[in-house]
Amino acid sequence: MTTALSFWVFDADGFPARWHCGSGWSDEPYVGWMHVISDVVTWTAYLAIPVMLTLFVRKRNDVVFPKIFWLFCAFIVSCGTVHLIEAIIFWWPVYRLSAVIKVFTALVSFATAIAMIRILPVAVTLPGLAAVNKQLKREIQTRKETEAELAKMNQDLESFVSIASHDLQEPLRNIISYADLLKQDLGDNLSTDAHQDLAFITSATGRMQRLINDLLTFSRTSRHDATFCPTPLDECVNEALEILHQRIQDSNCTIERTPLPELAVDATLLVQLYQNLISNAIKFTDHENSVIQITAKQVDGVWVMSVCDNGIGIKEEFAEQIFSPFKRLHGMSEYEGTGIGLAICQKVVEHHDGRIWVTSQPGKGSQFHFTLTPDLSASTTDE
Ligand code: ADP
Repeated sequence: MTTALSFWVFDADGFPARWHCGSGWSDEPYVGWMHVISDVVTWTAYLAIPVMLTLFVRKRNDVVFPKIFWLFCAFIVSCGTVHLIEAIIFWWPVYRLSAVIKVFTALVSFATAIAMIRILPVAVTLPGLAAVNKQLKREIQTRKETEAELAKMNQDLESFVSIASHDLQEPLRNIISYADLLKQDLGDNLSTDAHQDLAFITSATGRMQRLINDLLTFSRTSRHDATFCPTPLDECVNEALEILHQRIQDSNCTIERTPLPELAVDATLLVQLYQNLISNAIKFTDHENSVIQITAKQVDGVWVMSVCDNGIGIKEEFAEQIFSPFKRLHGMSEYEGTGIGLAICQKVVEHHDGRIWVTSQPGKGSQFHFTLTPDLSASTTDE
């Protein structure tokens, strides 16, 4: 059936080639050639347009009404084919094929027209490019204003924390010195209970002083005028280890290091970061064979720094919470601390457009990782 149909379609029997229809073509052949050439050129153009449209639709995934595009392409291709057959018929009288293609073109044209009528109400309501631009500009402006407001609020909050911490230190120092004076004045007359009470005062004030100092560091970390200079990170680690020298000796831990890269960072902040992570690694390792590994590796063009220990570890559900200020997983009687250290680490890393996270197996150790981007330009920010 299909073979018979295709045979019928391409069968030119009974029809003369157009050049042989009447004497007009032979008297004025240029008229025939005008037909042929224009039909072929039109066909070529009709073929190029859908190719362009297809490329356009494939490259942009935000095209509205993509189905209409395909229908439109079919419409143009079939119109083009009608022109091509019109030119061919001058030599090969495939009038039957021409009729079939014209029927097909008529159907596709009709379907395209119907589809266009259907989308018209929606299409006219679509915002024009100018309207979209205007809306976008409005949104950008609103976002800028919100960001400025947020920055101002942050600044106010930071200066409040800074001033409050500063002012709190004065009365605290007084409590500590008066408690000392009281101890000296009363000397041997102090009862055992009074001794104990004074010891509580000293320990509580000491803790408060540490808390205030940590809060000050936290607020200064965000106000710090970060200066990003090419810095060998090994130097930052050296400095952090130097600061922690006594604690490292006391804990008898082993430090294992691999060479670290040189990156555009704020050295002061990086020393603080390594100091906090190494200090925690020492603090949260209970046993004698404490090993702290300080390493770096490049993953997909980004440097990932790690400080790993074989200490008590952290349960997975706390892996994110521990970076919030004041979040501690243990009581003061177990491990000393204020819960600010990791919050400072997070701020430092965010200042460097990086990310910090922890992986851990409780009882086996923790691995703190942070990323640093190598192309962070050597510049100064005044956040
Ligand atoms: P701090 O050490 O003063 O308590 P941090 O902000 O440095 O405060 O740490 C928050 C909490 O995260 C700690 O109290 C501890 O429970 C947990 N933590 C931090 N580092 C480690 C580590 N290396 N191993 C196990 N737990 C850790």
